[in-house]
Amino acid sequence: MGHFSMEISANPGSVPGGNQQADLKKEDFGPVVAAFREFTSSYACDTCGEMYSVSPERGKKEALRCGCGKLNLNLLEKGA
Ligand SMILES: [Zn+2]
Repeated sequence: MGHFSMEISANPGSVPGGNQQADLKKEDFGPVVAAFREFTSSYACDTCGEMYSVSPERGKKEALRCGCGKLNLNLLEKGA
């Protein structure tokens, strides 16, 4: 026995520029949220205002519906 590792484990905190991760601030999400709302509003019913949801929630998707039932889009291919 007599093998000594001469490696010095690097201390992450001492590496220059080692913390380059993007620091997302809350303000940065503003435009994203606005865009998302705009996007999702195009998928909401203009009668009941509910987001369209796939039914059933589990298993094979059969239909896209909203709360009032104005939209009831059949997702199943005919003859499939
Ligand atoms: Zn509706």
